[in-house]
Amino acid sequence: MDEQERIGNIISKILDENPDRVFLQVPDGLKKKIKVLEDRLDDEVEVVASLEPCYGACDIKDIEARNLGCDLLVHIGHTRFCRDEEVKTMYFPWYYDMDPVPVLKSSLGVLGDYRKIGLLTTANFLHSLEKARGFLESKGFEIFLGEGKRTEKGQILGCDVSSALSVEDKVDCYVYIGSGKFHPLGLALKTDKPIFRLDFEEKNLLKLDFDRFKRQQIVAKENARQAESFGIVITTKKGQSMPDVAFELRKKLLDCGKDVYIFVMDEITKDKLEGIDVDCLVNTACPRIAVEHRTGFRQPVLNKDEVGDIFGFE
Ligand code: SF4
Repeated sequence: MDEQERIGNIISKILDENPDRVFLQVPDGLKKKIKVLEDRLDDEVEVVASLEPCYGACDIKDIEARNLGCDLLVHIGHTRFCRDEEVKTMYFPWYYDMDPVPVLKSSLGVLGDYRKIGLLTTANFLHSLEKARGFLESKGFEIFLGEGKRTEKGQILGCDVSSALSVEDKVDCYVYIGSGKFHPLGLALKTDKPIFRLDFEEKNLLKLDFDRFKRQQIVAKENARQAESFGIVITTKKGQSMPDVAFELRKKLLDCGKDVYIFVMDEITKDKLEGIDVDCLVNTACPRIAVEHRTGFRQPVLNKDEVGDIFGFE
């Protein structure tokens, strides 16, 4: 389906719902589509488009939509994540129909002697998985697509790599189809298996080196072990907000003799923590902060599961 057809399809599905006022939410990479969608919709319905950053469907702005009198929230670019939206919500994942075979053909040697491969991707490139699998199998590789707890076969999220881990004991390495480092890095912090990335923009297949991030994780854990005071951070982002987890963690840390404080923010940034004097931060929101930006904070930052690793609780 080309882009015109895809947008036409979204418009007609929205109009089928006969809304009065639509709240539109798109990730940064698709912001250019906002005007196109508004131009095509606003003869028929009122439209308001959010310009807040949106990293996933965990960050739906349903309360904002309701407060602005919208009766339909249209979330483009991600699959459904939350289950209890405050207004009717339609999700339109944005698939890129890319062919991974040319890159695989030209770079197959990079895989060396690895023959058993766990194939992974994000929601955007799910359509590329079967093409990659077909080609690799035709070359004699054994391919595994793991089952995730809340994802499609072979799909990972930065906060959920369970599909990859479900095949960990069967594979020699992983091949991740997509761009950026957040998703494969989330996996690298949970496995020692090599990870390759097939990048459509760069047109290459490369082995990723995450040693620096693994070392950062070791140092942060070591510093946290010595910490006396902990700040547990909750976000107000709907699908990432875990107050119960935070208070449970607080209890466990108190039992370990630590001082514990709970803080809440929408976007978690270093600036908002100015003047807050704690030895260690524990992130209960999207793991990206501790995975990719761990050194951007004054204190060591750990994700909630990493605290459990240190003090021996779940
Ligand atoms: S990785 Fe972060 S942004 Fe992506 S779905 Fe999970 S919590 Fe949301």
